[in-house]
Amino acid sequence: MSGAVLENAQVLGADGTFRTGAVILTDGVFGGEEDAAAVVERFDATGLWLTPGFVDVHTHLAWRAFDAAERQRLSPEEQARDVRFNAGRTLAAGVTGIRDAGGLTAPLAQEVGGLRAALSVQMLGAEDARGPAHLRARVQELADAGAAWIKVVATGGVGAGDAVGVPVFDELELKAIHVTAARLNLPVMVHAWGGPALTQALEFGAASIEHAVLITQDQCRLAAEVGAFVVPTIWIYADVLAMAEAGTLPPVLAPAARRAVEAHPLAVRRCLEAGVKLAMGTDAGLDTQHGHNLWELAALIEAGVPADIALLAGTSGGTRLLGRSDLGVIRQGAPADLVCFNADPRRPEVLRDPSHVVAVYVRGELLHQAAV
Ligand SMILES: [Zn+2]
Repeated sequence: MSGAVLENAQVLGADGTFRTGAVILTDGVFGGEEDAAAVVERFDATGLWLTPGFVDVHTHLAWRAFDAAERQRLSPEEQARDVRFNAGRTLAAGVTGIRDAGGLTAPLAQEVGGLRAALSVQMLGAEDARGPAHLRARVQELADAGAAWIKVVATGGVGAGDAVGVPVFDELELKAIHVTAARLNLPVMVHAWGGPALTQALEFGAASIEHAVLITQDQCRLAAEVGAFVVPTIWIYADVLAMAEAGTLPPVLAPAARRAVEAHPLAVRRCLEAGVKLAMGTDAGLDTQHGHNLWELAALIEAGVPADIALLAGTSGGTRLLGRSDLGVIRQGAPADLVCFNADPRRPEVLRDPSHVVAVYVRGELLHQAAV
């Protein structure tokens, strides 16, 4: 029998607490006590903190440049190279699964290595606001292109200035997207800062609301009631603001980014109070962002989310949203996606420094190991 036992580690439980114990890896899954005796390799993991693999449910794995025109100039080979680079960085950060929020096509998804990836292929946005019939056809097209999710940009984003909460689609268009997606059995993820589009998305059955910067108490109650997730992507706005102020991103982005930085902590606390399920998403799309995915958890903790809840949002929260409740927990028989930290990952400074991630396993296979 093959496999490994990591003994005397701090192991994250399904309830968000760490306990001293052993983790057994055998044949790609977590083993039980009875497997331990037969396993050949035993490691003393004293001082290591073990968690399930993290899931980033909002990343743009194919992107390294902010400017869409710059991305479009890339050859297929260059795009494939970028995806390999980003996937490697993401994995090394302790992220074993992603949901791509736009840009990662089915051919490019061949380049992600061991990373688990769910695709939305391409977003439906302002250029698709051409009536319900057009949108029904677009959803079908995305399904044919390999989308497992439909991504809708239902309000403006950080480039929209004051118009950031204004709906992109009318109600019939938004409904056409959701109804068509449901017929094709595809869940819908909706970019919505706030306003009526956010409420409509929840009413039409969105599986997750992305960003939710301006979400109200009533909308939180509705999200909790219908069981939708909120994916705050809280860190990216501070990052964008810093770059806009430094001039490495267009300064025009600064006002909306600043508004997000100011409003987001309240939005996240509202979600917690109403019992809305949270999942970790970074919205990473730049070299400097891929590979720093756990910054999001540090930012959530600093916004008032208890560290245990943040770690669960980053693991089982994400896997539940993706319909993979077999992942995101260290449990006998579950696929062995495992992250080893050399320090307590409940501390924001540890989450901010990817060098604390010393080993990453996916399906029991060691895919990343820090240089010693
Ligand atoms: Zn995004």
